[in-house]
Amino acid sequence: MQSQDVKLMEREQRLRDVISKLPKAKLVARRDVTDDLMVIELQPEMKFSFKSGQYCTLGLDSIERAYSIASAPHEPNLEIFVELVPPPDGALTPLMWQLKVGDSMSIRPRAKGIFTMDEGYHHHLMVATVTGIAPFVSTLRNYIRLGNQGHKFYVIQGASYHDEFTYREELEDMARSYPDTIVYVPTVSRPREEKNAVWEGVTGRANALIEEYVDKFGLSPTGTLVYACGHPGMIEDVRAKLEPLGFNVKEERYWKQ
Ligand SMILES: Cc1cc2nc3c(=O)[nH]c(=O)nc-3n(C[C@H](O)[C@H](O)[C@H](O)COP(=O)(O)OP(=O)(O)OC[C@H]3O[C@@H](n4cnc5c(N)ncnc54)[C@H](O)[C@@H]3O)c2cc1C
Repeated sequence: MQSQDVKLMEREQRLRDVISKLPKAKLVARRDVTDDLMVIELQPEMKFSFKSGQYCTLGLDSIERAYSIASAPHEPNLEIFVELVPPPDGALTPLMWQLKVGDSMSIRPRAKGIFTMDEGYHHHLMVATVTGIAPFVSTLRNYIRLGNQGHKFYVIQGASYHDEFTYREELEDMARSYPDTIVYVPTVSRPREEKNAVWEGVTGRANALIEEYVDKFGLSPTGTLVYACGHPGMIEDVRAKLEPLGFNVKEERYWKQ
């Protein structure tokens, strides 16, 4: 065996040891949304506090990754919306896809991240690709639960296919119940594909539509904070389009390009 392979194996073993000593979170529910999207609910064995918009660090075997939390802080379980990255690119998600109710993952004891709502702004323009909706779902659930008022949220979510809008019903319900507070715009980027034949909503990539919707919503840089979450290409484009207009953009990149 090459010395490089030995070093790699030793490193993996060290990680495995560290991860095995971390607290556990039990999988108490699993909903497969499509072949490569699922929502899981985890019950950490210890008290786990977080703010809406933050992420937790989950692990299996010798691998750990960050996951935005879709549930709100008052909810009993941690809800995570995950996309499968098949091997060889994906490492943790193929293992997560084998999990069933009753299995456990490791969880780092503290939530992290600063992708939280800045209440100093009146308007909140939230742009997501697929699973990037998670921190916004948490923020909106929390806002409604607390009975807060005085802010307005505009959520634009892009996906290739209409069946990837996992929280569509919930967000549309919120928008119907609180029309002065929440606007939700799901948009599919591949409208001509057979799978999207039933789609009658907005089409185009979220980032390609952003200037049009900023105009439509009548948003100006003073009083508006933009949040972009998910695909790094979307985030860069949103920044490139809105920062020159004077908008502040907060981001959560799910991977590096
Ligand atoms: C702060 C933060 C929050 C995150 N929240 C979520 C979340 O709520 N849900 C979620 O599914 N993922 C989330 N991610 C990504 C997550 O940490 C993992 O990277 C992802 O689940 C893939 O893990 P993996 O080990 O299978 O693949 P990795 O070893 O992490 O490799 C992934 C590689 O596949 C590519 N890729 C294609 N699609 C994706 C994708 N959707 N995510 C990551 N990489 C992709 C990229 O090129 C990347 O380099 C988050 C990442 C960060 C940094």
